[in-house]
Amino acid sequence: MAERPLTLMAVHAHPDDEATGTGGVLARYAAEGIRTVLVTCTDGGCGDGPGGAKPGEPGHDPAAVVAMRREELEASCEVLKVDHLELLEYADSGMMGWPANDAPGSFWRTPVADGAARLAELLHHYRPDVVVTYDENGFYGHPDHIQANRITMAALAITGLTPKVYWTTAPRSMMQRFGEVMREFGGEQAEPDPAEAAALAEIGLPDEEITTWVDTTEFGGQKFDALAAHASQGENIFFLKMGKERFTDLMGVETFVRVQDTTGAAVPENDLFAGLR
Ligand SMILES: [Zn+2]
Repeated sequence: MAERPLTLMAVHAHPDDEATGTGGVLARYAAEGIRTVLVTCTDGGCGDGPGGAKPGEPGHDPAAVVAMRREELEASCEVLKVDHLELLEYADSGMMGWPANDAPGSFWRTPVADGAARLAELLHHYRPDVVVTYDENGFYGHPDHIQANRITMAALAITGLTPKVYWTTAPRSMMQRFGEVMREFGGEQAEPDPAEAAALAEIGLPDEEITTWVDTTEFGGQKFDALAAHASQGENIFFLKMGKERFTDLMGVETFVRVQDTTGAAVPENDLFAGLR
């Protein structure tokens, strides 16, 4: 068998998640000569339309949103030097409780076994050494993120080929700083909504439960530019308002929980590929 390059595969739900959650590691490992593969599960059709139009509002044409987000995703991959982009093209399910959850072809409604079978084919094809996806709550409860976790874990169980598997997370210490920056850059909404603040406090993990801290500050500019490629989406504009320096300061270290490992590399670790090279 021909020698395979070390390979990182990130499995994400929507166009733009690759930049927010893993832009740093995608850029860093590409720069280190590691092959990077991004799998994006949905078409992003429930994202913002031109001028911030939400699904169902005038000016939100789902097909046009899908086309726009596809272009943005390709631009982001170029910035991050992603070697292979694989699109599963399920319909975006929207936020939990939206009618789109149950629309025909929605990712949320797709049987896990179906999505897992498709992803298993990609695992066989690329044979990644490291796979990264979300935790079982999809980091913040979005149905497509939860479904990405489910199909990924099922596909990994079917194939049994991947030495190291990670879930993205954020340290609580960082979430606290994030809340402060949100208030600073949030504009009129100076007082945090208590429900939102409580939800934010539940996100992420206590610092001591994080196994893997990867310093990607050197690639903060690329991560910022990748996110800027997705500027049509309202929640990204918030990050972009911070500017590169503040953004890198806040988002420059990417953190993970190691959930599968055959290398025995000691934790905490500072490299997704520890024990593999
Ligand atoms: Zn998403």
